[in-house]
Amino acid sequence: MAENKVQQARGMVRRPSLRKGISLRGMPELENVEEVKASFNRHLHFTVGKDRNVATNIDFMQAISMAVRDQLIGKWMRTQQNYHETDPKRVYYLSLEWYMGRTLGNAMLNLGIQGSTEEALNQLGLAIDELEEYEEDAGLGNGGLGRLAACFIDSMSTVGLPAHGYGIRYEYGIFKQEFVDGWQRELPDNWLRYGNPWEIQRPESTQNIRMYGHVSNGKWVDTKQVLAVPYDTPVPGYKNDVVNTLRLWSASAPVEFQLDSFNRGDYMGAVIENNVAEDISRVLYPNDNFFEGKELRLKQQYFLVAASLADIIRRHKTEPSWKERGWACFPDKAAIQLNDTHPSLAVPELMRILIDEEGKDWDESWKITTSTLSYTNHTVLPEALERWPVSLFEKLLPRHLQLVYEINHRHMEAVKAKYPGDNDRLSRMSIIEEGGGKRIHMGYLAIVGTHAVNGVAALHSELIKKTIFKDFYEMYPERFQNKTNGITPRRWLIKANPALTNLIDEKLPGEKWATDLYELAKLKKFADDKDFMRSIQNAKRENKLSVCRLVAEEYGIELDVDSMFDCHVKRIHEYKRQLLNVLHMITRYNEIKANPDKEFTPRTVMFGGKCAPGYEMAKRIIKLINNVADKCNNDPAVSKYLKVVYFENYRVSLAEKIIPAVDLSEQISTAGTEASGTGNMKFMLNGSLTIGTMDGANVEMAEEMGLENIFIFGMDVDEVHALGAKGYNPHEFYDNNATLRECLDQIRDGFWSPEDPSMFSMIWDTLMTRGDQYMLLADYQSYIDKQREVDEVYRDQKKWLKMAIHNIASIGKFNSDRTIREYAEEIWGAQCRN
Ligand SMILES: *Cc1c(COP(=O)(O)O)cnc(C)c1O
Repeated sequence: MAENKVQQARGMVRRPSLRKGISLRGMPELENVEEVKASFNRHLHFTVGKDRNVATNIDFMQAISMAVRDQLIGKWMRTQQNYHETDPKRVYYLSLEWYMGRTLGNAMLNLGIQGSTEEALNQLGLAIDELEEYEEDAGLGNGGLGRLAACFIDSMSTVGLPAHGYGIRYEYGIFKQEFVDGWQRELPDNWLRYGNPWEIQRPESTQNIRMYGHVSNGKWVDTKQVLAVPYDTPVPGYKNDVVNTLRLWSASAPVEFQLDSFNRGDYMGAVIENNVAEDISRVLYPNDNFFEGKELRLKQQYFLVAASLADIIRRHKTEPSWKERGWACFPDKAAIQLNDTHPSLAVPELMRILIDEEGKDWDESWKITTSTLSYTNHTVLPEALERWPVSLFEKLLPRHLQLVYEINHRHMEAVKAKYPGDNDRLSRMSIIEEGGGKRIHMGYLAIVGTHAVNGVAALHSELIKKTIFKDFYEMYPERFQNKTNGITPRRWLIKANPALTNLIDEKLPGEKWATDLYELAKLKKFADDKDFMRSIQNAKRENKLSVCRLVAEEYGIELDVDSMFDCHVKRIHEYKRQLLNVLHMITRYNEIKANPDKEFTPRTVMFGGKCAPGYEMAKRIIKLINNVADKCNNDPAVSKYLKVVYFENYRVSLAEKIIPAVDLSEQISTAGTEASGTGNMKFMLNGSLTIGTMDGANVEMAEEMGLENIFIFGMDVDEVHALGAKGYNPHEFYDNNATLRECLDQIRDGFWSPEDPSMFSMIWDTLMTRGDQYMLLADYQSYIDKQREVDEVYRDQKKWLKMAIHNIASIGKFNSDRTIREYAEEIWGAQCRN
């Protein structure tokens, strides 16, 4: 036994991993095993302050996290030292959201120490995969936008870009979702309660942030102060010794904050009032694709921008290039990417620093600002575009308002010069919207104040040029670019799906594919290979069995592992059309009930996702899904063919468990509404087939794999626009489609809510009396027909597996390493060192 362990530890025996959660690539090395054991014991004893008799699993998780962190520190310091010595162009990614999920497993994977760590803990009688479950997700994001930042920072380290992420260290991340009688309930996400072993506070780099006050003789005075205290998290690249930094700011009250109260002798009141300042980093706003013009949110945006810009400038002032060239070198040494308009206050803030603090003139300041900044647009939905009321902006940032007015004045002069006499265009293009209370259009400000604006998938990048930013594209065509999103294959395949990873490793030895997903194209030649197909099928089945166990434990529902796992996980939003999926489930339910002797292809329909707490329609959609689930699961005649599971509290760590087990991925947004999607890519990478519309990155996925390997249905963007222009009438579809009519009538009449027949009248109204904005009814029949085709193919497993292999083999483009290399080359002008 001991002998065998030593052999395993030396990597002499290639055996299946000790558990299913680890791939063969992380075989343990003996020296490292001993080192990890010693380090773990040391941290448990001296850092956590416990012995084995009283330590909890959280203690063990923290001790192993710190042992792993220790292995990052040397590489981290060497990386940062090297940047300082070589003074390369650096990339700064500013984002209000960082949806990182868990760090321990990812850090072990990127360091290549999964095997040693598992073995070390195993020898101590502990299981790493169990301990990993005690880590809280860093849920500092809502959905795709925040997760994109997380995939990007992983890729920036992996391709060897000198990069820094900047964000806010929210004390409460995205709320925890619970269902109470099928309704969503939100609970606070107190993720820092037991401490965060991955962060290091850097109080010496605290920044002083000013707000409020007024402008007097061109000076911003009588401001209130708040401190921004940075917390750094190391971000390792994949086995390349690069460790970059994610710097998150936490708000803290300065002593002077309540000087008035102190002076009045109100000591208690003053200390209590500190909360007001510290509220800035208290909680993540839980809206996805929705603008809510709250003062605290504007404060958060300015807090991030001001602290990060001050920190960036401070760093560059210590570099040798600065001593030679000063500000002139800044755009050559720093590229700052704005993740949506959320940090677009960077435009007036950098102008303020240059003009008010550095004494530069307007033209030089403008040149530095626009050549340093660039902006990524994430949506065309009008309700998501940020338009801050001037009154609120003026109260919080009076000096910035002056600068925005001046920017707009000069911008208007440029428009006039280019389009003399075109007054309509002039008013359309104003950054300041008049009428009904003036507002600042942050998207326009971001385009005018940067050198590049990009969409996140080809279709979306074309759409912004034709719709929301048409006038700006005509004026500045050279600024508009596309950067199709991607996902990191390390977290979303190697970490999430060891079974599939091992299969790929067997066919593609060496580790090249882990950073170059185009290598997977070599799997195409195995698409007809019986052994490979069976292995792919077995890997999927193994993953499905894990989810069956999870569902049995969590919800007491027994799933049929051989049923088709049909999965719709993402934020709940009308444009994502979870309701269309519901109409399909109800259609199936009705068909099964009407044909008790007929055989159907068994399905398990899975949902996951949170909705914004104030989004009434989405809340009802969640309740409807849960009611449909109850009825289907508790009717034996139906549940044989149709079960429905709604996973509570969908988040990054849960996505990693569910996605590898899915057969069919639902990507069914109305064409033209989903900018890219990244969930779609995670499923494709894990060998799920997609049923989807020609929207976002689905279009490019279809292009890469061929239309014969994806189930595309419904109207394309041109058809959606044409129908809208002609005048869309949902009643035409209702009147002419009996099965659709039956579903809708059931929703209206309380069939799905016998306890309260009018519960879903809002859903009926939205579709039937308020115009069905997202055209569910128009796409209904096409969706139902395509689902029948999906059933047929699933019954032909040979065909299904062949398609799945083609999906995996066509994923190359959707690696976020590829996306990042494009940003580096075409927007940032920065060098990837790997
Ligand atoms: C990838 C991801 C998303 C984005 O999913 P879409 O389907 O692209 O909207 C949202 N939430 C989590 C937890 C994710 O991992």
